[in-house]
Amino acid sequence: DQHKLQAIIAHSKEYGFVFPSSEIYDGLGAVYDYGQYGAQLKKNIRDYWWKSMTQLQENIVGIDAAIFMHPTTWKASGHVDNFSDPMIDNKDSKKRYRVDHLLEARADKLEEEGKADAARLLIGKMEQLLSADDLPGLKTLILEEGIVCPLSGTANWTDVRQFNLMFSTQLGSVAGEAGEIYLRPETAQGIFVNFLNVQKTGRMKIPFGIAQTGKAFRNEIVARQFIFRMREFEQMEMQFFVRPGTELDWYAHWKETRMQWHRSLGIPEDKLQFHDHAKLAHYANAAVDIEYNFPIGFKEVEGIHSRTDYDLRRHQEFSGKKIQYFDPEINKNYIPYVVETSVGLDRTFMMVLSEAYAEEEVATADPAKKDTRTLLKLPPRLSPVKLAVLPLVKKDGLPEIARTLMDECKQQFHCIYEEKDSIGKRYRRQDAIGTPFCVTIDHQTREDQTVTIRYRDSLQQDRLPISMISQLVQDAIR
Ligand code: ATP
Repeated sequence: DQHKLQAIIAHSKEYGFVFPSSEIYDGLGAVYDYGQYGAQLKKNIRDYWWKSMTQLQENIVGIDAAIFMHPTTWKASGHVDNFSDPMIDNKDSKKRYRVDHLLEARADKLEEEGKADAARLLIGKMEQLLSADDLPGLKTLILEEGIVCPLSGTANWTDVRQFNLMFSTQLGSVAGEAGEIYLRPETAQGIFVNFLNVQKTGRMKIPFGIAQTGKAFRNEIVARQFIFRMREFEQMEMQFFVRPGTELDWYAHWKETRMQWHRSLGIPEDKLQFHDHAKLAHYANAAVDIEYNFPIGFKEVEGIHSRTDYDLRRHQEFSGKKIQYFDPEINKNYIPYVVETSVGLDRTFMMVLSEAYAEEEVATADPAKKDTRTLLKLPPRLSPVKLAVLPLVKKDGLPEIARTLMDECKQQFHCIYEEKDSIGKRYRRQDAIGTPFCVTIDHQTREDQTVTIRYRDSLQQDRLPISMISQLVQDAIR
């Protein structure tokens, strides 16, 4: 539903969640900035993940590795040789496309025309050719389907070629290949190269995990999908190290645990699904995606991969350092196997926002008239602002009472003070940024120390002692 996606993009911009990067210069492709409420929502999601994956897991610890890594890291990981996508250029427009995007767009079109079987057949063929790395076959398929460049309108295509997705830059003053380093395309490798450091200093016993969150960079050739596919994005990854032979049990465990986590964000079961990989990456012996039903359809939010001992073994080989674990229970040395959970923070943000965004009809004072309100039904623990404190008028001592409540509450959680505009307008603004509670201080407050609390989703209003507010909000966001 493109309409809903457009509404969410516009809402994100209007209310300070997400802006195109360097917008005054007309933006930068597939790069975005998070605004005042977006940054807070993103932090709340990250903190929630961090708590679930470290604090609540006694055998998982968190680290924060650098974005820059020794260039040999990416030879060992396979990214220099394998981290590429098949692309094709149109000779007339000089525009480059990802082959899978062109073919998927064609399949969507077929589906729209009611040719669902043909669409399914096309996707099946494409997946087969992709997994066989059959570049000439992909070109033939594009020509057979009569796919033209949306810009030039011609089918004057080059051959299909592989393009590496890593960004490179120069380290220090060393120019040329010697000084060339990459911006990390995933955070996982920072965990693998620190396996021994953490295992030894933390006296960790297998099975155990290492988690981290941080930026990753990929030179994606993009279709316009907002923050779904960015060139600079953030990952939240956990590598779980296990005894060889037990990996598929742990894989099943993390698959369920991570699905449960997404549900705990308030995402309904029928909008989440597993998608088994048709093609396994070079490092994996099992892999599954968790997909959410975005306004653009079911798409990947998280990947769970059984990576075997591929990464640690390769780092042992390329570094010449022994990367092994002595397992006292079976009296043996081995290279641990790894089960990885890898979720995109920006995609989770987009999922949470898509689920929360709603336009509702509401009654007005005039029974003949209806009004709509736009709101974000965010889970209170994720809302950027938890409580809005609103004096009914800017006089009669009401702002002073409101300030006292603010001072008490802001020590505990994020709140906002607003005295401008009518109370109705102020409520609407809070609905739009997803604030679960609004408290209004009026003249009665001066007499009996009670306030009106208004609940975002139900629109219900209650009269409560002002002394109860802070605790009520804290209970709701716990
Ligand atoms: P896709 O097939 O969508 O390109 P991927 O399978 O390459 O994704 P992984 O390498 O498994 O993705 O990365 C793990 C997670 O990182 C993904 O599930 C996704 O949430 C996130 N991610 C990957 N690439 C991007 C991107 N370009 N923009 C935003 N998030 C991304």
